[in-house]
Amino acid sequence: MTHQFPSLSPEQKKELSDIAQRIVAPGKGILAADESTGTMGKRFQKINVENNEENRRSFRDILFSSDPSISNSIGGVILFHETLYQKSDSGKLFPQVIKDKGIIVGIKVDKGTAGLNGTDGETTTQGLDGLSERCAQYKKDGCDFAKWRCVLKISDGCPSALAIAENANVLARYASICQQNGLVPIVEPEILPDGDHDLHRCQYVTEKVLAAVYKALSDHHVYLEGTLLKPNMVTAGHSCAKKFTPQEVGMATVTALRRTVPASVPGICFLSGGQSEEEASVNLNAINQVPLLRPWKLTFSYGRALQASALAAWQGKAANKKATQDVFCNRAKINGLASKGEYKPTGSADQASMQSLYTASYVY
Ligand code: 13P
Repeated sequence: MTHQFPSLSPEQKKELSDIAQRIVAPGKGILAADESTGTMGKRFQKINVENNEENRRSFRDILFSSDPSISNSIGGVILFHETLYQKSDSGKLFPQVIKDKGIIVGIKVDKGTAGLNGTDGETTTQGLDGLSERCAQYKKDGCDFAKWRCVLKISDGCPSALAIAENANVLARYASICQQNGLVPIVEPEILPDGDHDLHRCQYVTEKVLAAVYKALSDHHVYLEGTLLKPNMVTAGHSCAKKFTPQEVGMATVTALRRTVPASVPGICFLSGGQSEEEASVNLNAINQVPLLRPWKLTFSYGRALQASALAAWQGKAANKKATQDVFCNRAKINGLASKGEYKPTGSADQASMQSLYTASYVY
């Protein structure tokens, strides 16, 4: 076996690794604002807001036009296709609003899950057809990174060998296509929190899934320095009777990652996976306090855990803009501190930030 067919030039590699490192610069993480139209509908339903294009634009405008200091804790924002072509109240396209703050623009490029026939309800993720062309267009339209979510679940016979292999391969193929088009791929193999399994089972499954993902990325010649990983934290299942401390979650998570994720990967940005805002911050903080060598940045790429309190503060009313931005900025700042292991909870977390954000069999 020889290294005969290098697929990326040194310049392409440098561009990719520079983008990845800027997104996870010290104290920074990602705002995942790429909820599909259907998912936004579920969020809006809770606050009695109609799910139309203007309301979706309006809420996102509030987040993106927050105080410029938001860029101290947010290095990247992931958008949904519709949002990429919308404008803020000021008439500027959203990607420009975000870039003007020194924040990098990303785009969700997968097209959702599809069942794997003959399995216990397991899935793969679709969207490879035409992906290269879509990535090229997104790059022209201001994006520098992409996201693709694969979903695995834990139950008696799951994840199956097929689900692990298929999802690892499709993530690697997606990552390879993104890199050819100058987009840093966020590789997201999400293991759902549904189930009553304990922390140890989740750690074991996370290790097996991540080992398969990194084997596939290597097989597909993906340039790891120009990628980011978006995994679940290692936690017990949502219905597990036994509760584990943030320190136990931190140790199990870092142990699983150290066993499977190469040191060349610049950053690992966790999804919040239905944890409450406060739980997601406290667990991230504990992860960054684990007394073991952690060769990558360990930060956040939260959707629900960065937006739940903001949505509750907004209620669809323009008059609540400032209050919404204050809540959002505060949450981003807390997570920025947690990504450095410097968050000290005051014990005065409000009701909204303590509320579980869990949804069974979560669809994004
Ligand atoms: P949550 O943080 O709400 O789990 O979502 C993050 C995400 O982008 C899932 O793909």
